[in-house]
Amino acid sequence: MRSLKLILITRYTLPVIAVLALLSLLVLFPIRTFVYSLEESDLEDQARLFAGQSRRFFTGEMAAEVIDAYLKELVGELPLRLTIIDTEGNVLGDSEFPAAQMENHAGRPEVAAALKGEVSSAKRESRTLEEVFIYAAAPVVIDGGIRGVARVSVEQRDIAPVTWRVWWIFLGALGLLLLVIVAASIWTERTVVKSLNDLREAVADVAAGELGRRVTAPEVADFSELADNFNAMAEQVRLRIEEADGERRKLETILDNVSSGVMVADAGNHILLLNPAAAHILNVEAKRVVGRRLIEVFPSTDLEAAVSRAAAGEGVEAEMELVYPRKMTLRLKSYPVKASDGRVAVTVNTLEDVAALRQVDRMRQDFVANVSHELRTPVATVRALTDSLLAGALEDRDTAVRFLRDLDRETTRLSQLIEDLLTLSRLEARETVLRMERFDPGELLAECVESKATLAAEYEVGVVVEGDPGMEVEADRRLLATLVGNLLDNAIKYNRPGGKVYASCRAAPGGLAIEVRDTGVGMPREELPRVFERFYRVDRARSRETGGTGLGLSIVKHIAELHGGVVSVESEVGEGSNFRVFLPQPPPAAV
Ligand code: ADP
Repeated sequence: MRSLKLILITRYTLPVIAVLALLSLLVLFPIRTFVYSLEESDLEDQARLFAGQSRRFFTGEMAAEVIDAYLKELVGELPLRLTIIDTEGNVLGDSEFPAAQMENHAGRPEVAAALKGEVSSAKRESRTLEEVFIYAAAPVVIDGGIRGVARVSVEQRDIAPVTWRVWWIFLGALGLLLLVIVAASIWTERTVVKSLNDLREAVADVAAGELGRRVTAPEVADFSELADNFNAMAEQVRLRIEEADGERRKLETILDNVSSGVMVADAGNHILLLNPAAAHILNVEAKRVVGRRLIEVFPSTDLEAAVSRAAAGEGVEAEMELVYPRKMTLRLKSYPVKASDGRVAVTVNTLEDVAALRQVDRMRQDFVANVSHELRTPVATVRALTDSLLAGALEDRDTAVRFLRDLDRETTRLSQLIEDLLTLSRLEARETVLRMERFDPGELLAECVESKATLAAEYEVGVVVEGDPGMEVEADRRLLATLVGNLLDNAIKYNRPGGKVYASCRAAPGGLAIEVRDTGVGMPREELPRVFERFYRVDRARSRETGGTGLGLSIVKHIAELHGGVVSVESEVGEGSNFRVFLPQPPPAAV
């Protein structure tokens, strides 16, 4: 893989080098030819001139040495060589060599051509000097006839310096161009890479989960479509992920809150999900077991076999004994969930602890037994009273009136009991929907105390409302009235003549504290943890006497818990009791 910079530089450099090399060759050769032809035509002109001046050597009177010396003198310092040749090709004189020793020159092409009357030139390497010479020869014409040849020769001029100069110019141009190319490539690369880098960073950010990341318009227009498409894609991804997240959260919330145990495993029986109820039933920590194989966590071949059957595509219902992590009887329903290709993707397993179910059954039975027991006494009393009345007590007016009063008390107790049972069962079944409203809890306390005025007078107990005025609470007013009413009932009934009850509500950190304190009989400390249980009574005789049902505090506790609150009690025998209810309140909304 190569960087963009390198690609740009090589792609521009190579063609430029090739073009420049070609250009230099194209220029160099014509220059060379031109220089040479110029040289040759110069020489031919000189040969013509020389021929015109050399007629005198053809009189036949001059010895070769004389001509040689004459020619030498004529040439002087010039880099020329002059030769005189007769029509036979014999050299009559030469400016450089003794003519007498020179061979016949008739065969030399320029000489042969001159003898035919032409002026021409030729180029060849000198046999003696090993240099390239240019020879130009012209005929020497006397009285219209060719009498010989005059030849001029010169060492070919070295053309290399010219060639080198041209090459240097081209090399300089090439260097300059390369610099320009590198600079332009780096510049281009910077712009392109910067745009690409922005995109790359945005892609990396989105990949890392920063789904709100978007690319700004890039500097290079060609990338703007890419950037737009990327932004659109990122938006789509964000929407999809949010959708999927929403679905997952919904599912998680459902699974976290259902009371049934749910376990999801893959087709290879690896645990994928265990909801809190299932973790509770199986007595394991969900995060420790997720990802592990079922058989590793629960060494039960029955469980493994049942889930495996579901993984094979079958719906399974089974009951089995588990020994580890705790001993239990497990009721399992396993269903396969298939993927679009028809293969089982996961199995969904619902789990129930049969023992827990049985305990619920037992509790229900206990409750029925308790209720029957509670009903039995008043019903038996009512029957005894009506029997007595029918058997003749009706005749005695005083007895009849007494019996009817007793009947009235018992039926009131019965209806109170039924009322409390209904309230409690609704609260326990969570059927009661909280109707939250904002109101002054001090006012509510005052109203409740007011409604208990007759009862307080009957028991000769003074009730005092204390606490901060002008507060606000958000709660179900009706249920809170029931709660306060029950606490006041007890505080009045389990009191002494001349005793006091103090009802108050005050702001507490994070909520509101309602307190009902009395100077009554109190309760032994060891009984306190149980007083909120259904039908639990500390002082049975007194409870009966006062028409208590044993359900009042149970109702108080449920109402407090429905509001997300708690109830606590402090008590001292003979000193009195103090019931405190704490209701959490949302902080006041910012204005
Ligand atoms: P009950 O209908 O019998 O009053 P509760 O559930 O209201 O039933 O109370 C349970 C028991 O707790 C009562 O029977 C009583 O013995 C004891 N108790 C409740 N409140 C007080 C109190 N303020 N002082 C003393 N004992 C109380």
